Amino acid sequence: MKQLLEKKGFICDMDGVIYHGNHLLPGVTEFLNWLKENGKRFLFLTNSGKFTPRELQQKLARMGLDVDESHFYTSALATAHFLNNQAPRCSAYVMGEHGIQVALHDVGITYNDVNPDYVVVGEASGYNLEMITKAIRLVNKGAKLIGTNYDLTGPTEFGIAPSCRALLAPIELATGKQAYYVGKPNPLMMRTGLKLLGVHSEDGAIIGDRMDTDIIAGIESGLDTVLVLSGVTTREDCLKFPYRPRLILDGVGAVPDAAKGIDITNSQCAVEFTEADVVLEQ
Ligand SMILES: [Mg+2]
Repeated sequence: MKQLLEKKGFICDMDGVIYHGNHLLPGVTEFLNWLKENGKRFLFLTNSGKFTPRELQQKLARMGLDVDESHFYTSALATAHFLNNQAPRCSAYVMGEHGIQVALHDVGITYNDVNPDYVVVGEASGYNLEMITKAIRLVNKGAKLIGTNYDLTGPTEFGIAPSCRALLAPIELATGKQAYYVGKPNPLMMRTGLKLLGVHSEDGAIIGDRMDTDIIAGIESGLDTVLVLSGVTTREDCLKFPYRPRLILDGVGAVPDAAKGIDITNSQCAVEFTEADVVLEQ
């Protein structure tokens, strides 16, 4: 835990770490205060490309958290950054909500549904057969296929909903083309996030609730990895993966608690993997 407390930069996933839907999770206010009081650099990083940083800032404000919009990084921003580097001032046919539309517009990428350079797919609530058909025809005409993130499904208050990869699947199947996915676990998004934070990977940590996006992205980017059990992953699920986080906590509130000297090692969820564990299990 000491190793985590000494990190200079923190990349935190949002859903399942900070909130669930519109509910703030326990200990988050204390965690945010700890980050600020200790001069830590931090970035809230989400695979959802639905919202702009300003909207995320306002969402947290409604929950009572004061976070400047510069602290948010979304898969929509990462996709815009990637495309702008690859082909400045390119054009794209976009299937996605305004988070991705605004991000692309802000870097000078224009909307084009006739002969675009790219077809970009994010979370699209108005998703329909007409849009899929158009996307397929544009990809067949030569447009490159891009997904904002690799999430197959996402939680909603009514149950599971298809996410970016599931929405892209019919286009991939019908065209025989594989999309390039920008968001987590692509280390590209993590590296850009670290650059924004201004810290080296060895000075940074990622805190997330998903093994297949947050934790693997952290491992592949050389960050300290912390799984919190406040989201989708249980401790049993965690053991099914061929990789593991360095630390498992019940929630981000454990961080300020540990900093205050409160013993969290007896908490049901706190697990710290050390080199000794690795040696013992081999
Ligand atoms: Mg999450």
